[in-house]
Amino acid sequence: MKKTHLFTALILSSFLFNFSSYAIPHFFPNASAIPPYLLPNVTGGAWDGFQNLLGCRPGQKVDGLGKLKKYFQYFGYINSSSANATDDFDDYLESAIKTYQLNFNLNPTGELDNPTLKQLMMPRCGIADIINGSSTMNSGKNPPASANLHIHNVAHYTFFPGSPRWPANRRDLTYAFHPDNQVPQNAKAVFASAFQRWAAVIPMTFVETSSFQAADIRIAFASGEHGDGEPFDGVLGTLAHAFSPTSGMLHLDADETWVIDGDFSTSSSIFAVDLESVVIHEIGHLLGLGHSSVVDAMMYPSIASRTRKLNLAGDDIEGIQVLYGANPNFNGSSTTPTPTGQRETSPNGGVHIGVTYSSQFLLAAAFTLLLSLL
Ligand SMILES: [Zn+2]
Ligand SMILES: [Zn+2]
Repeated sequence: MKKTHLFTALILSSFLFNFSSYAIPHFFPNASAIPPYLLPNVTGGAWDGFQNLLGCRPGQKVDGLGKLKKYFQYFGYINSSSANATDDFDDYLESAIKTYQLNFNLNPTGELDNPTLKQLMMPRCGIADIINGSSTMNSGKNPPASANLHIHNVAHYTFFPGSPRWPANRRDLTYAFHPDNQVPQNAKAVFASAFQRWAAVIPMTFVETSSFQAADIRIAFASGEHGDGEPFDGVLGTLAHAFSPTSGMLHLDADETWVIDGDFSTSSSIFAVDLESVVIHEIGHLLGLGHSSVVDAMMYPSIASRTRKLNLAGDDIEGIQVLYGANPNFNGSSTTPTPTGQRETSPNGGVHIGVTYSSQFLLAAAFTLLLSLL
């Protein structure tokens, strides 16, 4: 092996195997599950402090606004190079709030009202909504050509920059779990079910393999910083993230209380999160989908704790079939009706596609480059 390749391999292996971050996740029901009172930060979710910001106005300086600005920077609503995270309610923050409200189908007042704060505190995916300043959700849509805002069946699905997808010669993918996670069989079955939901609508298959290094898709539960520059944040907050094709990395926050059987009556934790709901969303990213403003879509960015959402919506299916075509056995209908209620109230319409580069995408691209050098 050449020196440069050895160096690359060292970087790669430290990237793949940051063992200190990978731990056995908390699963319910499971004999080894940790009771909620022993979990860290059980006094609240990562973003519960935002509730103290109710009614804050432009021009004010209030403790906690800086943390909110960091939140908006993380998810792409404030350009991190253009604003500092002070506690001042400045123009950057007001603009970010308005854009966020548009993306989440809220009244775009620019104010920290109750519905906005409730949405902000909801646990969600760690992938940004706005990539390099270009919104991929509602706020990035062109206004409809006609004055009629009640447009049905408008595509809200989005793609990563350049619409990366798995190439035509890679339709049968393997996936594996990080060995340190010791994922039990009943949790593995949840992943198999989640993959099958996508495989049912596109001509792709997903099969588990025991080799983590050789797998196309590598799944890991990790806590905090875990080697990819996108640290997890403890209970609730960001739940998981996955990278664009063909990086194949799917990471879940090991500090969550993951429910694997969908039965929340067996978990006493108010912070319990449904594993399959989150995994289906993240697989969408692995295949090339970005976030959608359609509330019923699996690619909607947030999900409340103790909530189960499993069916691909028409928006998800339309988006993924643009990338891969339809599974010949797909009967042409979604398992849930195409939602219309939320999108009717949106002031914007039109078909999105414009996207730019995110840190996640660049990371994925760098990773792919490293692999090709080996
Ligand atoms: Zn996501
Ligand atoms: Zn990660």
